[in-house]
Amino acid sequence: MKANRSENFVNSLDMLSFDNSFVRELPADPDTRNRVRQVSQACYSLVQPTPVARPQTVAYAREVAELLGLSSADCETEQFAQVFAGNQLLPGMEPFAMCYGGHQFGNWAGQLGDGRAINLGEVVNDRSQRWMLQLKGAGPTPYSRRGDGLAVLRSSVREFLCSEAMHHLGVPTTRALSLVLTGEQVTRDMFYDGHPKLEPGAIVCRVAPSFIRFGSFQVHGWRNEIDLLRQLVNYCIRTDFPHLGEPSTEVYLQWFAEICRTTAELMVHWMRVGFVHGVMNTDNMSILGQTIDYGPYGWLEDYDPRWTPNTTDAQGRRYSFGQQPQIALWNLAQLANAIYPLIEQTEPLQQSLQLYGDVYQHDWRQMMARKLGFEQFDPASDEELVKELEQVLMLVETDMTIFYRQLAALDADADAADEVLIEPLHEAYYQPEQLTRESRGRIGRWLRNYLARVRQDGLPDLERAARMNAVNPKYVLRNYLAQLAIDKSETGDHSLVNELLEVLRRPYTEQTGKEQYADKRPEWARDRAGCSMLSCSS
Ligand code: AMP
Ligand code: MG
Repeated sequence: MKANRSENFVNSLDMLSFDNSFVRELPADPDTRNRVRQVSQACYSLVQPTPVARPQTVAYAREVAELLGLSSADCETEQFAQVFAGNQLLPGMEPFAMCYGGHQFGNWAGQLGDGRAINLGEVVNDRSQRWMLQLKGAGPTPYSRRGDGLAVLRSSVREFLCSEAMHHLGVPTTRALSLVLTGEQVTRDMFYDGHPKLEPGAIVCRVAPSFIRFGSFQVHGWRNEIDLLRQLVNYCIRTDFPHLGEPSTEVYLQWFAEICRTTAELMVHWMRVGFVHGVMNTDNMSILGQTIDYGPYGWLEDYDPRWTPNTTDAQGRRYSFGQQPQIALWNLAQLANAIYPLIEQTEPLQQSLQLYGDVYQHDWRQMMARKLGFEQFDPASDEELVKELEQVLMLVETDMTIFYRQLAALDADADAADEVLIEPLHEAYYQPEQLTRESRGRIGRWLRNYLARVRQDGLPDLERAARMNAVNPKYVLRNYLAQLAIDKSETGDHSLVNELLEVLRRPYTEQTGKEQYADKRPEWARDRAGCSMLSCSS
């Protein structure tokens, strides 16, 4: 069968096997007209993607294709572009948009829903794994509110590349199969300042076991649709948490505890790699503890816990880097409120929220120990060391990613004047001339303490470097790199999107000839839109 397939290049697309449990097991909106409205007593609305003019595949992720049982040859066909632009449905696809609500920037926003995402169906692969396919930007749905249901190339490149980059970094995330141009233009007022512009339209096909969000439960709690809430929770447990067993009050509690744990783990990952989501609204929180909805996200360049890439959040900084763990907890508390009617006990839900804090603290310490190359986190010495490191990183503009890679290369026995000791770190400083005598002294002191701590463990330098370099990436999707890829793509040259996809497949490995993608942000990008600040407009 396989041999036959490749000999004749029979497209495997038509052979994808769909099992659409979400639409089968949960109630649908009986109204099938595609117009904006409130949808109660339903988990989704059936809706068709809007056909587009000239689909053209810009990039695809071969690993995601493989998960589905598709080859690279399949992804290079015209049919692939047609299907993942929403122009052609494969046998077994049943497109729908999900109903959900959410808290946006701390305020209850009511019904939100898939305003520009259309789920196509659940592929079951030959390993019996279930993967929901979802087009983002495939046209309006009943949940589009005032939006057009479309997405532009700019934001689609960002979502496509970052999903895959995060996966290869080892951070739980939804995946991206494809990035397809629609051949149509979309109007966007990028900075909401009355200067709308035409931009190329594009569609990303996202792939995940489930796209259920915290807000998916909140909307039913808010509408007092308790039976429906129970139905959705039961479905979610049976489908995505089968190891918990048949739903019961006890299982609901275990389920919530697991969500608290995986969310804590996710936050530790974000803090490890310097990722700032930018819009941690409860509708953007996956029930699976995966990173979801890549909008105005950013990568920490200069280490600054107060940094947020999202211009909409510049005032309150609710979603800034250092706030993320706390916000995740706040979001979990909202989820607890939403599912409370099924449980009617406060205490065990509180305990899970407590568990979030415990898991976060424990894992964060282990993660910091690994970043620094220690065998274990030793609270007696490391608490203080890590606290001082945070201060040291903030003395002058310091690139977090480069700093840790340079740290790994230090000789544990180095003992020299401050000047010499901090020399290898220079690459991490945006403006080394900002280093005063005092700050050099402080950095030098920290380095001396750090190296003493390293010697305590007694790992050989090479071994320590290898361990550190396995958790401290060399290559991340720097904000300006994504922007360079977008600029090029907008001229019709998609080579940089594909090159970055390739480099970011091995983020921890030194790659000869690709060093420029590990460079710190150039000066021109400091204040350029898309590089240091982003809006939600996408
Ligand atoms: P986000 O902040 O991107 O997660 O979006 C919040 C809500 O707005 C979600 O319900 C989205 O589906 C919806 N939305 C965002 N952009 C658009 C758009 N262009 N058209 C329709 N709905 C949108
Ligand atoms: Mg969203």
